[in-house]
Amino acid sequence: LFSTVELAPNDPILGLNETFNADPRPTKVNLGIGVYTNDDGRIPLLRAVREAEKARLEAAVPRGYLPIDGITAYNSAVQKLLFGAASPLLAQGRIATVQALGGTGALKIGADFLRRLNPSAKVAVSNPSWENHRALFQAAGFEVVSYPYYNAETQDVDFTSLVNAFNTYAPGTIVILHACCHNPTGVDLTPEQWQQVVHIVKERQLVPFLDIAYQGFGVGIEEDAAAVRLFAEAGINSFIANSFSKSFSLYGERVGALSVITSSEAETLRVLSQLKLVIRTTYSNPPTHGGAIVAAILNKPELRALWEQELSEMRERILSMRGNLVAKLKQYGANRDFEFVNRQRGMFSYSGLSAQHVERLRTEFGIYAVSTGRICVAALNTRNIETVAQAITQVLNT
Ligand code: PMP
Repeated sequence: LFSTVELAPNDPILGLNETFNADPRPTKVNLGIGVYTNDDGRIPLLRAVREAEKARLEAAVPRGYLPIDGITAYNSAVQKLLFGAASPLLAQGRIATVQALGGTGALKIGADFLRRLNPSAKVAVSNPSWENHRALFQAAGFEVVSYPYYNAETQDVDFTSLVNAFNTYAPGTIVILHACCHNPTGVDLTPEQWQQVVHIVKERQLVPFLDIAYQGFGVGIEEDAAAVRLFAEAGINSFIANSFSKSFSLYGERVGALSVITSSEAETLRVLSQLKLVIRTTYSNPPTHGGAIVAAILNKPELRALWEQELSEMRERILSMRGNLVAKLKQYGANRDFEFVNRQRGMFSYSGLSAQHVERLRTEFGIYAVSTGRICVAALNTRNIETVAQAITQVLNT
């Protein structure tokens, strides 16, 4: 049966992780993988999470099945976080939200639903984008194209080219947009550019699919949801996949959600029924633990305040590492200006380092980055930043 099965290629980033783990050098640094580590180099277990878990354990709740669409209190907390508690869409019942297995699970449920709805639509992803966007929509059966996004020369968004591309798309084309903290570049659209995108999407009847995996990691919880809210205010039928993997440091618990903006409460019911059909035939219903923890935190004022504080600590630490890296590269005399790193947001930075630089960082210094030059700034800390800045300077200057 399996004699003709070919070996699938390794996931490049997870493959990098394996090489990193096998590297015996004690000074090695992993800037490849997309997880936030604290100043001790560890993935934090947030205090808010610990408190919620303690309470849940003590309550000794039975482990029945959840409804297909997940925990009601969780889904409504997600809606408030994304759209704002005062959003008229909430009052009008115009958002269908289902709990999902992380941001990836949300994208998958949305992709499968869209494929049934409009099988011949094309999907457009930014160039570059999180690798799984293309793979996931292709796996759902779509043809995936890419739209211009990053300009390496200006270290900024090539907005004119993006607009030109959007203006060529047929109605119904699904455009995947990073709502904040673009992965991998760290470069986001400005508020004015978002407004233009909303305008074009509406005019050309494109289908926006927003991916928000880093809410709170950019500027703040509310600020980072601005793009989602612009689409909501415009009343555009949109898809929003959100993830709590990073913002609650709950990577392995698989907590996220898919929300769909509809045109009426009646439409919400119909859309929801279809999303449930996709979920039922995919994994039946979501797991309990992560959703229950997030719902408890978001819905209890003391835990919520604690979480917001911890989230801003993570955000501030990343920003300070950006500042530190830029300053140290300057101090060591790196032969180029890295000020643009301070303008980027979120966990990642397109550093401008070439594949050769990245290769040298790994072989000569045990510093691991993605060959595109993407580094995870959230993996820098006060103990490894000197090593990293010195090594980058050396591979650039010699
Ligand atoms: N979208 C983007 C842009 C991401 O960077 C990630 C995580 N790396 C995801 C979605 C997936 O999130 P999750 O781990 O919750 O599935």
